[in-house]
Parts: sequence; structure tokens; C-alpha cells
Amino acid sequence: MTETTGTVIAPEALDALVGALRTRGFRVLGPVVRDGAIVYDDLGSAAELPIGWTDRQDGGTYRLERRADEARFGFAVGPHSWKRFLFPPHVRLWRARRDGGGTQAVEEEPLDETPLAFLGVRSCELHAIEIQDRVFIGGKYIDRDYAARRGDAFLVAVNCFEPGGTCFCVSMGTGPKVRSGYDLALTELLDGGHRFLVEAGSERGAELLGELPGRAAVAADVAAAGAAVESASQRMGRTMDVQDIRDLLVDNLEHRRWDDVAERCLTCGNCTLVCPTCFCSAVEDTTDLSGNEAERVRVWDSCFSVDYSFIHGGSVRPTARSRYRQWMTHKLATWFDQFGASGCVGCGRCITWCPVGIDITEEVAAIRANPGSRA
Ligand code: SF4
Ligand code: SF4
Repeated sequence: MTETTGTVIAPEALDALVGALRTRGFRVLGPVVRDGAIVYDDLGSAAELPIGWTDRQDGGTYRLERRADEARFGFAVGPHSWKRFLFPPHVRLWRARRDGGGTQAVEEEPLDETPLAFLGVRSCELHAIEIQDRVFIGGKYIDRDYAARRGDAFLVAVNCFEPGGTCFCVSMGTGPKVRSGYDLALTELLDGGHRFLVEAGSERGAELLGELPGRAAVAADVAAAGAAVESASQRMGRTMDVQDIRDLLVDNLEHRRWDDVAERCLTCGNCTLVCPTCFCSAVEDTTDLSGNEAERVRVWDSCFSVDYSFIHGGSVRPTARSRYRQWMTHKLATWFDQFGASGCVGCGRCITWCPVGIDITEEVAAIRANPGSRA
């Protein structure tokens, strides 16, 4: 048999991978089953992965189900994304104390520099991280908190073989195969013996891979991995026609579909919270009752909240119509003007976790089907 690049390891060897990362001082995070969903949390060992679980997703629907096998990554993405660790929902920025003489001391919040390792990063999520890198550390102003968390983060990617009912990464050109931006990439192979093909994407990834118990991959392993990913790409739950999408949306700001969606949208903001690329935040200041201690925290915010666009005189987006339109046209149109790329990676979370099942692919299709239709 022909040898090729990559190493094949047994499912049990994932524990050696987690151990090797922990030995190097990483806080290892990965998928676990909690509260009826697959979420990202601390991993003590690979035994905590969602072994034998899958998810069923559709607009406004998410269910966990048992698989007939012991797959470790036989599901799509859940309500969490890695942004909750790189850009946490609640971060204290500084604290201030006033002593008896009235002197104030301001302490900047120390950075959390524990190196992070993410196990199970999907291709769409690698693209989402790349997008947030551009926002937080790719421009003139660097977000020090994000920079510290992102700095040495070790990314173990996973090629998808079981896309979700709301996934459309193929349409967005962001998956299901991982292409770059990872230290190690895993492909789980179930046929012909349960095993993982592991490929290195960086020097430190290759060094760690050298420590794992396994054998050199052969052409049959690589072919099986290619077939698994190709099969996933044929089974996307959703599609989106992105041809000239920026101009389509910018030219249809008064389309009647915005009124239709406004009748259904609860402006709850779920879609922005689960989205791996949304990055809006607000700062909140609080003091204790004595008035001697104060702190400022940064919290996730959303373009769906009225306060977010409140300037003197009121909110500039007072209606559900204006807020949904802002969100969708930013994601799919003006993000190109601002960051040179789409703000959507096709992960499908906003469709699954919208309580009324509003579907961004359906909204685009409705506008495309009848452009220029005004309210
Ligand atoms: S589109 Fe859905 S998830 Fe987003 S704000 Fe409206 S109701 Fe909430
Ligand atoms: S807009 Fe929806 S599908 Fe696109 S990246 Fe955000 S959550 Fe995923």
C-alpha cells in the first residue's frame, strides 16, 4: 500500500491528544453534551466528547439523538461557538477604588493569558475565527483582551461528515473541508474500522502529532477521508445563492419582504448571540452602594436591541423591520465594504436557534425571486 501524509490514530488515542495539550499547559475546550445540546466546555479527557450522539436541526428546532455507532464528531455545530472563549460575553475592563481622602485608583483588568486549545473546530468556524481576527486584531486598533486569548490558541479542526439540517457552508465557500488556519486536522472514518486521519497544519501540530500512538496513513485512508467530506458537501441542509448578493440586498432596502419578516421577528437577538461572527458589544458601569468602588464591564450586545442604536433623540432603528434589515444586510452585503468578505459562514445557527424559525437563506431567496418589490 502507498504511504501518504498524515497519521491514522484509534479513537482512544484522542485521549493522548487531550493529555498532550494539557501537559503543554493548554486549557482544552471541546464539545460536550449539556442541557440537551452539544456545547463547548472544558475537556478533562476525550471520554467527555459526545460519543454516539448526533443532532437534528431545522428552523427553530434542535434535538439530540443517539447514533448507531460510537462516532466522536457525528453532529454539526450547536448553540455555542468559539467566540465565547475568544470574545467572552462578559469581561471586566477595569475597576476603580476611592480611598477615604477622595483619591481614585484605577486598575486595568489583568489579561487572562492561559493558552487555549480548541478541539473539534469545524471549517465554517475556522472561517468565523478568521473573520473575528480581522475585526479585533487585524486593523489599526487592537483589542487587547481578544489578542491575549487568541495569541497562542491551538486549533484542532475536524472535517465534517454529518452536516446539520441548517448548514450551508458549501454555498458560502467555507466548508465542509478545512483548508487552513489549524494546527491539526482530524477526519473521522467509520467505515472499514473506526479511526481518525490526522494531518498537521503547523510545526507545533506536527510535533504533537509525532507523540500520538498511530501509524502512517495510506492512500486508502486518504481516499476514505476525501469521500466522507465529499458526501457531507452533497448533504447540506440549506443552500444560498450568493451571486451578486451585496448588490441584491443594497438595491432592495425597501423590499416588501422586510415587512413580512418583521411580522415574525421577535427582535430577541438570539441570531446575533449564536452567530460566530457577530461582535457587537456594549460597556456597562456599576458602582457599589457606598460609591467607593466602581467597575466597567464589556458585554455582548445586539443590533436587535433598541438601545444599541440609541443616539440623541432616540433609536435610529426603532422597528423590527429596520433591525432585521440591518442585521442581514450587514452580514451579507455591507460586511464586504467594511471587511472585504462576507460576514456569514453558513453555519446555520441563526436558523436553528431563531425561536420562530426565520431562515436567512429563505429571506435571501424571497428577495432574489422578486427583486424591486416594494412595500
Ligand atoms: S430573526 Fe429570530 S432570532 Fe433573530 S431577532 Fe428575530 S426572532 Fe430573534
Ligand atoms: S448569519 Fe447565521 S448562518 Fe451566517 S454565520 Fe451567522 S449564525 Fe451562521
